[in-house]
Amino acid sequence: MTAAITAAHQAQINAKPAQIVLLDTREKIGAKILMSGGTRCNVTNREVKPSDFGGGSSHFIRHILKAFSPEATIEFFKKIGVELVLEPSGKFFPKTNSAQTVLDALLHETKQLGVSLKTGVRVTKLTKENNLFYLENADHTFNLSSHAVILTTGGLSYPATGSDGTGYSLAKGFGHTLIATYPALTPLLTGERDWQRLSGIALEVALSFFKNDKKIREYQDSFLFTHFGFSGPAALDISRHWAASDPKDKPQIVANFLPGQSALSVKEHFQIIQTKNQNRLIRNILTEDLKLPGRFVEVILRKAKIKPDQTIGKCPNEERQVLSRLLFHYPLEVRGVYGYQKAEVTAGGIDLSEVKFQTMASKLTDGLYFAGEILDVDGRIGGFNFQWAWSTGTVAGRSAVNSLK
Ligand SMILES: Cc1cc2nc3c(=O)[nH]c(=O)nc-3n(C[C@H](O)[C@H](O)[C@H](O)COP(=O)(O)OP(=O)(O)OC[C@H]3O[C@@H](n4cnc5c(N)ncnc54)[C@H](O)[C@@H]3O)c2cc1C
Repeated sequence: MTAAITAAHQAQINAKPAQIVLLDTREKIGAKILMSGGTRCNVTNREVKPSDFGGGSSHFIRHILKAFSPEATIEFFKKIGVELVLEPSGKFFPKTNSAQTVLDALLHETKQLGVSLKTGVRVTKLTKENNLFYLENADHTFNLSSHAVILTTGGLSYPATGSDGTGYSLAKGFGHTLIATYPALTPLLTGERDWQRLSGIALEVALSFFKNDKKIREYQDSFLFTHFGFSGPAALDISRHWAASDPKDKPQIVANFLPGQSALSVKEHFQIIQTKNQNRLIRNILTEDLKLPGRFVEVILRKAKIKPDQTIGKCPNEERQVLSRLLFHYPLEVRGVYGYQKAEVTAGGIDLSEVKFQTMASKLTDGLYFAGEILDVDGRIGGFNFQWAWSTGTVAGRSAVNSLK
């Protein structure tokens, strides 16, 4: 939609009439916008840097973010009637708190600019002959020719929304390389029954990803126990590292359940309590002073082999040390990731090295452009994936129209 809007707008600026057609498999376009950000749509972030993304070249990403920045995104949405509000986390959401506002504004703008929207069309064939592209669906009930094509078919996540990977085959038909894909921003699976039983409990954690005992990345955010494993932003962010890892590299995810504290500060706190009230229960110190959820505390005490009625006065040092280790350095038993059905984004995709960063044009075929998640770029939680889609869509839409003779 951003690509189509920019293309139509650029055609007006250039005073060169161009017919812009927006095709989509689904009858209703923009499914992912509606489900995004808990149906509030996290449109962008206060600060977006190449290090917020995985996949292709940082240089490429930096250029694209400069060409169409988060500030430009905020301005663009303001112009089309969507006021964005900054939250303390750095995330921008529409003032209405409704993703529908974002989708409605984009659809309204496409209509205003004369973009022809054709839904229910799944393009399965894309060829080029004598400077014209030919697009067709599987049962030949639809065909179209055009001077330029922008492929914005997304990745493989939530395939029911329409992003089923057909776009990759269309790109491969022009010689483009597909960098191996895997689900990212997807929940983690565990077989640990104790954790599964905590389904619904959320807390702030810091998750670290280790490879061969070396810490590679850490994410601090909220974390949710589910009946199959772990979800919430911290788990989703770390999932791409797990999904991409080779078992030979001994991947490990370690949880710190008290990210705002240190082992030393907790040890000192226990000592102070002990001098004041020997009979205070360890359980109550964890829930009342350290604000850990009650059901979580029951599990962690069981794992530390500390009785539920253990008092601070009678808790030996060895037990305290075990408890501290479990709270600050708990190696999660992870069996894998949930997969594309619940992945907010697809890692991998069309190789950026075959795309021109100045224009989003294919280096292999004149007139072919790319934008969005189809490319080998995936962002972390926080509005980064949409920013990538808006930025690349804008650059591609503008360049595609400027390239028309
Ligand atoms: C649950 C969920 C929550 C999310 N929340 C956020 C968030 O808050 N903030 C954020 O930044 N990101 C979020 N994301 C990620 C974000 O939605 C995507 O990265 C973004 O939508 C990618 O945009 P896109 O246009 O490249 O692809 P998509 O949004 O996937 O759109 C691709 C479109 O192409 C169509 N299509 C595919 N193949 C064909 C074909 N052959 N012919 C015709 N049409 C085709 C599909 O029907 C689809 O409409 C979320 C994702 C999910 C799943």
